[in-house]
Amino acid sequence: MYKYPCKMSLLSLLLAAASTAPSVAQPGVPVAKAATDFPAQERCAEGPADVIAASAKERRLACSAVRDALQLLGRCGLFPRKLLHVEITRALRHALGRPILGLFDAKQQRVRIANYESIPSLVRGTPYAGIPQHELFKSIVVHEIIHAVMHQNSKEAALSLSAHEYPAYALQIESLPSSVRQNFLLSMRDEASIDNFSFNDIVLSIDPFLFAAHAYWHLRASGNGCGHLTALLAGEAAFISTPLY
Ligand SMILES: [Zn+2]
Repeated sequence: MYKYPCKMSLLSLLLAAASTAPSVAQPGVPVAKAATDFPAQERCAEGPADVIAASAKERRLACSAVRDALQLLGRCGLFPRKLLHVEITRALRHALGRPILGLFDAKQQRVRIANYESIPSLVRGTPYAGIPQHELFKSIVVHEIIHAVMHQNSKEAALSLSAHEYPAYALQIESLPSSVRQNFLLSMRDEASIDNFSFNDIVLSIDPFLFAAHAYWHLRASGNGCGHLTALLAGEAAFISTPLY
């Protein structure tokens, strides 16, 4: 998910309501380094990122996901230009109140991810429910890190929300272990229409999971995945439909 600097996205994953009250770790607030019940900040050894989370497990998974995301982008010569900031929160909500898995706040330059324990309830009944929890958690971090690094490297404002989400979803799905990825893609059962899929904001809002699967298939099938990413950064991706609003 991408949070525009000035315009709030109306889109978010269609998720079950979370029951816990929001409790967001605030950057700059002193934290207990050794406790497991309070947010602690850690600098990742795997890449230029720091992570705030309440558990060492979340910090370890997030740093591992940062490494995976940077490897996927590094194949195309795309690297972070600034330190990346990741924050794992107990309850993450869209500005309109809907629970969400993650977002990249371009204005604050910060990735925010729902905490590990909340993931199963957030994806219940969706195609993500079949993905093992730790793999899904990492893939959500990958998704938002892709947003952050693409934003740091963008030369032009993206044409649409679809243009923002295409690389994040495509590389999120690619980051999954092969067997997990295949199970997810099989659950979508739509590979036959790969040549006719339209990447636009309406399709994205109706079925972000199908959009994710097709973004992966499209990027892989093109034989020019890096070219697609650089085209998106230049705001010149012809395969993304013009916004309808
Ligand atoms: Zn996104």
